[in-house]
Amino acid sequence: MIIEDTNNLFKQALSSLEQEIKNSESEIAHNNFLTTFANIIDVYKFENNFIYITVSDYMLKFKVEKFYSSRLNDILHNLTNENIRVKFITTEEKEEDEKKINPSITPEVIDINKTKRRLRAEFTFDNFVVGESNRFAYSEARQVANSPYALFNPLYIMGDVGLGKTHLMMAIGHYILDNNPNANVIYTSTQQFADDYFRATSRKDREEMIKFADYYRGADVLLVDDIQFLEGKQATQEEFFKYFDYLHEHNKQIIVTSDRVATDLKLMARLKSRFTWGVVVEVKTPDLSLRINILRRKLAFLIQNPKDVPDDVLEAIANSFTNNVRELEGALRTYVNFCVSFSLPFTLENINEALGKSITTSDNVVKSKDIDNLKSIIASYFQISVEDLVSDSRKSQIVYARNISFYILREEFKTPLKKIGDYFGNRDHATVAHGYDKIKSVIETNQQIKNDVNYVIKKMSK
Ligand code: ADP
Ligand code: MG
Repeated sequence: MIIEDTNNLFKQALSSLEQEIKNSESEIAHNNFLTTFANIIDVYKFENNFIYITVSDYMLKFKVEKFYSSRLNDILHNLTNENIRVKFITTEEKEEDEKKINPSITPEVIDINKTKRRLRAEFTFDNFVVGESNRFAYSEARQVANSPYALFNPLYIMGDVGLGKTHLMMAIGHYILDNNPNANVIYTSTQQFADDYFRATSRKDREEMIKFADYYRGADVLLVDDIQFLEGKQATQEEFFKYFDYLHEHNKQIIVTSDRVATDLKLMARLKSRFTWGVVVEVKTPDLSLRINILRRKLAFLIQNPKDVPDDVLEAIANSFTNNVRELEGALRTYVNFCVSFSLPFTLENINEALGKSITTSDNVVKSKDIDNLKSIIASYFQISVEDLVSDSRKSQIVYARNISFYILREEFKTPLKKIGDYFGNRDHATVAHGYDKIKSVIETNQQIKNDVNYVIKKMSK
């Protein structure tokens, strides 16, 4: 079916569905339909009996799939007597798909808008939430972005999957382009680089090869994502090595990301040593406060009024997804979609509904008398008063005692942050999370702190 026919067919199906809803359902349902489809007009392609329709984001996709897909399929079936169905994909998925069908040989003209488009729009510094685990990486990234010449070359961003490497790298690209729209910022995944190279050489076409080389040598800033995928690709390594040296010599900034330190990569020695020339920064696993802060930031993209989602919900999600921000974010999105789609309130109970029991919500096991008991044990152990403990005092001994209290209440009694805050001078949960993280991050390596904690716990159990 050619695209116009597909377009018409889809329009026809839509208007049938609209009639159906208008005639037999409430005005609200009708209005809902109209607003949902107001901006969905984009038939992308027809393939394997599927009409692919592009929608702006996951939220919308979730909604149309849930409420309208099967009805549209029925209508299409009636209209055509064939098993034609709809498939909704986000613009992002469409772009991925286009890359697959039409693997771009290196662009003929380097078009800034094209480069900009390769950088994911939301991966900016503004949207990057900073915490202990990524502070250094963030500040070095900002420095590189701010410097008019290649500062540390390369900037080597490493870390486990889903911790913000690509985000940080693209943020540098955005920043540079925002300040200098003429800069030739080239982003490529290692896979893309290897594919482009393979295609350019396999055609045995000198022109193609030159185009490829010119493209990468023309970079003012080269961003190469996931260089661990250079492993096992000898020829690609050789080729990449050439551009690396060329750009390095010309003082052009190179930024790479990797899941490991360079010395652990199985690459040719020359290349490996190049990767250690600059500065290595690591994005580490985010602590609880950072996870909560990230969730809060992401929420602003998902719903109009982020305050509608209470802190205890964010805390529960942050508690259950601890070592991958992508999954953390995914869980939040699923939860929000679920509640919005079914018009449910944003409650703790609905987390379990939405995410299928994968969440550990803390019941309120700790009683206020336990907390009072803890307070007095802590106070006497640290030779301060209970009033000090809940006061605003920033004296280091008092702050320390307070943080130990937060740590024990959370770690041993699974007390919700909000509740701890309420019992400690109405502190907000972020303050409590921060104090907890402070202890958590050092307890394994600091015997003194371990002793303090163990002492108090033992005392409490008596
Ligand atoms: P990586 O490249 O390390 O696998 P990404 O950069 O793709 O990870 O990050 C995965 C997801 O987590 C992205 O949606 C990104 O925006 C988000 N993310 C990771 N760290 C942060 C952070 N510090 N602030 C905001 N979002 C973050
Ligand atoms: Mg990545």
